[in-house]
Amino acid sequence: MYDYLIVGAGLYGSVFAYEMTRRGKRCLVIDKRPHAGGNAYTENVAGIQVHRYGAHIFHTNDGAVWEYVNRFAEFNRYTNSPVANFRGKLYNLPFNMNTFYQLWGVTTPRDALAKLESQRLAVAEPQNLEEQALSLAGTDIYERLIRGYTEKQWGRRCRELPAFIIKRLPLRFTFDNNYFSDRFQGIPIGGYTQIAEKLLGGCEVRLGTAYKRGEFDAAKTVWTGAIDEYFGFSLGALGYRSLRFESETLETANFQGNAVVNYTAADVPYTRIIEHKHFEFGEQPETVITREYPIEWRPGDEPYYPVNDDRNNALYERYRGLAEREPGVIFGGRLGQYKYFDMDKVISAALEASARE
Ligand code: UDP
Repeated sequence: MYDYLIVGAGLYGSVFAYEMTRRGKRCLVIDKRPHAGGNAYTENVAGIQVHRYGAHIFHTNDGAVWEYVNRFAEFNRYTNSPVANFRGKLYNLPFNMNTFYQLWGVTTPRDALAKLESQRLAVAEPQNLEEQALSLAGTDIYERLIRGYTEKQWGRRCRELPAFIIKRLPLRFTFDNNYFSDRFQGIPIGGYTQIAEKLLGGCEVRLGTAYKRGEFDAAKTVWTGAIDEYFGFSLGALGYRSLRFESETLETANFQGNAVVNYTAADVPYTRIIEHKHFEFGEQPETVITREYPIEWRPGDEPYYPVNDDRNNALYERYRGLAEREPGVIFGGRLGQYKYFDMDKVISAALEASARE
């Protein structure tokens, strides 16, 4: 008899398992995949840590979470500075003085602001992503750097998307290409998998093991899979976006000179190319690149992004209602809570849940 059956060896499940094990509870962690780490999983290919399920860049404002992850890996000084390629021209992200210079040749914050203001759409309350983007960033940025990327990423028109998605993209009037404004940022040297493996070191783990209701004898269950899947999709399926990754090893030391290059035009089928070695300043003779193709999620695909529009949020609330009537089950993580969580938020949620327990 276990105290906790933890379904999913991703960050939420691993942190929860670690915290309860050190408090003397007996935990069993299962994962249908053959490895720990969930979507943060990294794998060594030709000496390069490859982010198998998409780029994971750790950033947080939470000093306690930063201190916590640093117990399980040493972090490097990587700073995310993606470059956008639109029809062969390169632009720095996030939108900052470098970008404004590249777009308009303006060299001062005052001229950049004047240019932006002349293009901004005047709406008091943006009703969708297009209005939000146009009122925030104006026509040029919207047309060249937002529209195509976003419509590929989400598979629908910007006019049909919720405004909040774009709030992740700040505007800056300094020459600062750091994508995140958090105090702490970095990549674990040697990859993310070691973090999950260290967290899970003290408890029983069965990888390659799918969940079957009633198969494992545990007082409580922690479910980090999709909440609608737990309930057998009984109220209907929640919407997700999925991704297809195409990776290649190339006989060249440096393919694109940056870890992340976004392709923002609608007619390029992928959204970005990741060159993994640059996350760790690698100097190997070869390189591994991954093209990221967003796809509509269908049952059986990996659900990467919850699509938090009104319909899905309302349906999620109904599943929450069912979840509240399952007292022995804790739902956690990006899929269990149907929320566009970053890694630091997943970790703090797991720490809070374990403290409550
Ligand atoms: N986005 C964009 N152009 C870009 C990068 C991002 O318009 O070059 C928008 C897009 O709507 C996307 C959102 O910003 O869905 C968040 O993107 P980000 O890359 O920050 O999120 P991630 O996919 O890495 O979680």
